[in-house]
Amino acid sequence: MRNGLISVRVTPENESISAIIPDVSVVVPVHDEVESLPFLLEAIASTLSASELSYEIICVDDGSTDGSDTFLKEQARIRPDLKAVILRRNYGQTAAMAAGFNYALGNAIVTLDADLQNDPEDIPILLAKLGEGYDLVSGWRHKRQDAAISRLLPSKIANWLIGKITGVKLHDYGCSLKAYRSEVVADMNLYGELHRFLPALAYIEGARITEIPVRHHARRFGRSKYGIWRTFRVLMDLLTISFMKKFLTRPMHVFGLLGLVSMISGTGIGIYLTFVKLALGEMIGNRPLLILAVLLLVTGVQLFCFGLLAELLMRTYHESQGRPIYRVREVVAKNGN
Ligand code: UDP
Ligand code: MG
Repeated sequence: MRNGLISVRVTPENESISAIIPDVSVVVPVHDEVESLPFLLEAIASTLSASELSYEIICVDDGSTDGSDTFLKEQARIRPDLKAVILRRNYGQTAAMAAGFNYALGNAIVTLDADLQNDPEDIPILLAKLGEGYDLVSGWRHKRQDAAISRLLPSKIANWLIGKITGVKLHDYGCSLKAYRSEVVADMNLYGELHRFLPALAYIEGARITEIPVRHHARRFGRSKYGIWRTFRVLMDLLTISFMKKFLTRPMHVFGLLGLVSMISGTGIGIYLTFVKLALGEMIGNRPLLILAVLLLVTGVQLFCFGLLAELLMRTYHESQGRPIYRVREVVAKNGN
């Protein structure tokens, strides 16, 4: 690969296809962005043609109703650098990005938003950083052009929390403009709002990650697809992944232990009370200890069963990972790749 970015591994098996492997795949999730698209495609194409990198643009239409899908399909029929992946309905930005990763052939992958808020001119800067030996380069919108209360504040809190919990401190997890070595995204199972956690997930897998400041513009057309609820969803995802990393893989160990302690104490107290009643012949009916024993036993049994259920749930969860989080209606590409 040129620019010393990433070397193509040419083996006899892939020799024939190495000719069509581009240096960079630019993945763009699109939901109702028809006004922006012509400008976006032009900006990406002119920036990357000026660099000496070969590239492909993969626009994933995520259930648009404003004609973005029709526009993308038309363009993909005439432009050799564009692949249009049309999803069956709106699955969300993460799913759209996952679909894009699936169709991307490049050695490096760049993601950015369709609304021109990210600046395609930053792509070569990110790629140059990737070329320095990083596996993932994340953009940092240091002068972010979004609403303060509903977007900037929740993001600040979310970024701080994600940094604390995952141990990967980035200023701006939410920035879509990121560059990856293709291996990094290859085996990622994405769902929910998880695309923003890619740096943290990749870091756990041993990836070298870094962050560089990028430009950010106010939206030119249309409206943001998100409000304050997104932060809530992001935080819930954070909770699940951090929980998962800690002990969700073996929930029985947590609930089972609590349940066992509770059951053993309840049984112990029960045996003691039986002894008091039978051997010593004392009344036990009005002792607070009796209520405690019953409570501990009942809670113990319930916690134990809860752990068992959680264990079964985890099995199902892991097994369901093979299920796609999106469905593709159509793929249009001029050269049929
Ligand atoms: N997007 C998408 N599916 C959705 C919502 C958004 O593919 O369900 C795309 C959208 O078209 C844009 C990107 O994700 O390219 C980011 O969305 P938006 O600009 O609304 O988010 P913001 O910049 O406000 O965070
Ligand atoms: Mg935007």
